[in-house]
Amino acid sequence: MNLRVPGPTPCPDPVLEAVGQQMINHRGPEFAQLIGRVTADLKAVFETENDLLILTASGTGALEAAVVNTLSPGERCLVISVGVFGDRFAQIASAFGADVRRLDFPHGTAADPDAVRKCLRDGPAISTVFVTHNETSTGVTNDLEALSGVIKGEFDKTLVVDGVSSISSVPCPVDRWGIDLAVSGSQKGWMAPPGLAMVSVSPRGWKAVAAAKMPRVYFDLAAAKQALELGQTPWTPALSTLYGLQRGAALLLEEGMEAVYRRHAEIGAHTRQLVEGLGLDLFADPRHASNTVTAIKVPPGVDWKALSRTLRETHGVELAGGQGPLSGTIFRIGHLGWVNAGEIDQVASALEASLASLQALPSVPARSS
Ligand code: PLP
Repeated sequence: MNLRVPGPTPCPDPVLEAVGQQMINHRGPEFAQLIGRVTADLKAVFETENDLLILTASGTGALEAAVVNTLSPGERCLVISVGVFGDRFAQIASAFGADVRRLDFPHGTAADPDAVRKCLRDGPAISTVFVTHNETSTGVTNDLEALSGVIKGEFDKTLVVDGVSSISSVPCPVDRWGIDLAVSGSQKGWMAPPGLAMVSVSPRGWKAVAAAKMPRVYFDLAAAKQALELGQTPWTPALSTLYGLQRGAALLLEEGMEAVYRRHAEIGAHTRQLVEGLGLDLFADPRHASNTVTAIKVPPGVDWKALSRTLRETHGVELAGGQGPLSGTIFRIGHLGWVNAGEIDQVASALEASLASLQALPSVPARSS
């Protein structure tokens, strides 16, 4: 199967072999060595000297950790949303009682730093800003450097970034961009199975953690930091995924992050070119098109479910549909992690053949002119 959803991503053989290793005592010296090594490698990829904590959770768990460790009930925060995952930050913060101000941008577009500036100028009580770096639901990468220039540089707010589908695939230099809490997830560009999420915390972030009063137990980052100082995690970790993540991170560093970023940029451009070559319309603003996931409009008269089934059953290609309000109107090709141009070529050929076969079906409604 050519698995081209934007996570979970395929795992290379060395990662699969690592995942199959026997269990070890998570309170013993072997584990201390393992978590020490993985943490150091993750920090290299995050480009950070900040603390970095590995949580047993999917990416959403780390989003929740970032919220409940930085805010108190009633505290005013700003959520910048360009899609489903920005909305998720707002949903979590609201559920835990934050006073959430939202700045929403139309799906397919990126956040506008000028609008963020205006919003922060009008909202001096905002303590913390949440933003998605790469919005997987729409295939848009926000200009985080410019946004951080406003949020940190001009207004000095605590900055929390969802880098779940960006960090490890496209540049996100955490320290250089002043990100206080940055989150990622093992099943994305890290080429490892799902089950672990990571969050880096800056000194400013730790101040927010100390002041934050939202309830937390499993996702208590101070407890995770304390445990890490002993070479442990507070709770039983997803060991097999950690073995895989260690191998995945090592593979990235062996390739070299500049080469990894170049490969993603080239494959992103290649994907968009092939898709347009088929006469399909890209969904995202081309100035902000993501190099980890490409969103494509479902052509008029085509049923995404039928297209997806043909791709899977006839061509062995697995793509992702649209999420939430975009369900049925767009579909997405994931091209992050372990991916090469040939696999994208195969997706394009499969798409061409599937669309041709579907449009020949008599059940497809005639297009009104
Ligand atoms: N944020 C982004 C940008 C994502 O792409 C995802 C997953 O697709 C998440 C958050 C949520 O991660 P998970 O599904 O692992 O909980």
